[in-house]
Amino acid sequence: HPAIVRARVHTHINLFQYRTQIEREATVDQLTGVPNRRRYDAVSSKRWQDAIRLGAPISICMFDIDKFKVYNDTFGHPAGDKVISAVAKTLASYMKRSTDFVARYGGEEFVALMVGEPSEKVFEHLKTVRQAIEDLRIPHDPKTSEWVTVSAGGVTIVPPPDGSYASYLKVADTMLYDAKRAGRNRVVWAN
Ligand code: GH3
Ligand code: MG
Ligand code: MG
Repeated sequence: HPAIVRARVHTHINLFQYRTQIEREATVDQLTGVPNRRRYDAVSSKRWQDAIRLGAPISICMFDIDKFKVYNDTFGHPAGDKVISAVAKTLASYMKRSTDFVARYGGEEFVALMVGEPSEKVFEHLKTVRQAIEDLRIPHDPKTSEWVTVSAGGVTIVPPPDGSYASYLKVADTMLYDAKRAGRNRVVWAN
């Protein structure tokens, strides 16, 4: 009966749209439009396994916006949200290869993964990315620095078969900490 067929088709289209929307909300960060932490958890373990299987280098990089508490205190939280969004878009625009991945790790922190490139090349690329964020020329509180900047820390490794991803993520985090301590607005790479 045509009316019943139409009704059923309608129901299935609705369900499909509903499901697509739910899937998107589960994996994409609402503020920035980049993959969220949940998506990162899934992708990172897959990329790690791929790198082990291929014997390929994988790079893990953590980013953190510099002196962002001051930014929020000076310009307000909604303005801070816009900065997080702008930084995310710039990061994403430099992570376009199918082997690149960038996600919002939390707050004003991001994490990037790159597979198949040697350490020096990734390091150079990330210095370009850091510069691109400074070049957005988003005014910061002059007490802190002229423009909004990010610090980054990372590591490139050919993962050993029994190596744990978490231990290398920790190395990236330590490098980020070193970048902050050394004066911020820089990339520190594990040797
Ligand atoms: P540092 O250079 O050492 O990173 O200094 P910081 O002030 O950026 O310190 P930290 O990274 O610990 O602080 C993060 C701040 O980012 C704290 C919080 O107010 C702000 N923040 C986190 N998530 C959001 C968000 O979604 N929106 C806004 N506007 N601010 C956020
Ligand atoms: Mg932080
Ligand atoms: Mg910060």
